[in-house]
Amino acid sequence: MIQTQLYIDGQWQSPIDQGTRAILSPADESVIAQAAEATRADARLAIAAARKAFDGPWRQTTIRDRAKLLNKIAELIDRDAEKLAHLESLNTGKTLTESRTDMGDIAATFRYFAGLVASESGAVNEAPHHVISRTLREPVGVCGLITPWNYPLLQAAWKIAPALGAGNTVVIKPSNLTPLTTHHFTQLVAELDLPPGVFNLVTGGAEVGAELAESLDVDLVSFTGGAYAGESIMKAATGNFKRIGLELGGKNPNIVFADADLDAAVDYALNAAFFHAGQVCSAGSRLMIEDSIYDAFISRLAERLPRIVIGNGFHGETQMGPVQSAQQHEKILGMVQAGIAEGARLVHGGKRPAGDVFKRGYWLEPTLLADVTADMKIAKEEIFGPVITAERFRSEEEVLRAANDTPYGLAGAVWTRDLDKANRMSRGLRFGTVWVNDYHPYFPEAPWGGYKASGIGRELARVGLDEYTELKHSYINLAPKAMGWFGA
Ligand code: NAD
Repeated sequence: MIQTQLYIDGQWQSPIDQGTRAILSPADESVIAQAAEATRADARLAIAAARKAFDGPWRQTTIRDRAKLLNKIAELIDRDAEKLAHLESLNTGKTLTESRTDMGDIAATFRYFAGLVASESGAVNEAPHHVISRTLREPVGVCGLITPWNYPLLQAAWKIAPALGAGNTVVIKPSNLTPLTTHHFTQLVAELDLPPGVFNLVTGGAEVGAELAESLDVDLVSFTGGAYAGESIMKAATGNFKRIGLELGGKNPNIVFADADLDAAVDYALNAAFFHAGQVCSAGSRLMIEDSIYDAFISRLAERLPRIVIGNGFHGETQMGPVQSAQQHEKILGMVQAGIAEGARLVHGGKRPAGDVFKRGYWLEPTLLADVTADMKIAKEEIFGPVITAERFRSEEEVLRAANDTPYGLAGAVWTRDLDKANRMSRGLRFGTVWVNDYHPYFPEAPWGGYKASGIGRELARVGLDEYTELKHSYINLAPKAMGWFGA
């Protein structure tokens, strides 16, 4: 049985009150680990350690030291990639293929930020000849990093790599449903020769996250999760006006025009919605189809859905695993029922699959709800499960208005062969990412984040490093002379 601990000030330790939490397999509800469950008191110790480390020798590290550190972490991730991928699939239920892809992306993220950090140099500003004016980027300080259960280590990497690379110290709090890969990652960091307190792990629930958001000794909180927690973090952060980065939920339109390559659009509609059983912040669960192809498109999806292989993520033939928790399972089924009650037509799924292996665990059939209209709750709220809601539209203006009519603005896609239309739609959609004739690709070089209630700030790309820095104007007068302005 895996047992996890906290990592504070360079020491592995149990929570002060010895709290533990059973971690369950989403596939069969068996106990797969006993995780340390921290409290606010443990978080305070971790914050104090990070504060001390930030004010100590860590401040003297160079960009070269830190780029080397990130590259070393990438090497260790490559070394343990298979172990990490197994842990991720065990804990989240996602297929091993997906977890392996995550680990490749995680190592690439560390390497990308290593390169970016190494290329950082302050700018010398134009100024009088007796003045040296420089613009410098400095670390923000102690960073509290709070991550969700759907992409536990990937989301952590998007934060840890730029935070450490920019010279900050870190307290990370993964979701208490999925702490296993972040714990293993911390074991990798512990192999390195970092000063104590530079990297700290506290596993626990909302209270621990709230402590990070409220603490006056934390300078920046970066959070990925739901809008509800995001709102309370934003309020808590006002105590010391700490910097915040919020990566929240989405209600992401996948818009198919009649002139699209329909073979590709049908195929990608499934990928957009059922990848990781739909538990992706950018999942294309809101399918919007042009009237003239609507019925044919729904029929083609209906043919494909029963062929999706649901099963244990460790079995090679599995295409879709379970959802992560009992709470999610119940919420998704509730939303499907609410959709049917509002008038949506259930084409496929909407229930636990038949068969003995699916009696335990959080299994759901891939689900298609057709004839959804823009005013329905299921067209507006994030479902975060393997559910496609399909809406019909008649014009570009109508679909643009409906797609934007959500509090969220994370990601969306447009399918068309008409370049003008693709351009107009890309510009009109109020979302942080708009794909044309594709769905889901992201990479470290491109920014990730949302408009409106999907968040504040961006991760990845240069902007994802800048979020972890303060800008300083350093002004040195090499020839000071008395001005004689006052009372001379
Ligand atoms: P969640 O908000 O319940 O929890 C996220 C993290 O915050 C967890 O570690 C949790 O313990 C902690 N937390 C909860 N309440 C808190 C509080 N009041 N103060 C501080 N910390 C608190 O979200 P979740 O259910 O774990 O994740 C799913 C959500 O995350 C979805 O809405 C999804 O869209 C979103 N998400 C967004 C992105 C993105 O890039 N925008 C990526 C992944 C997931």
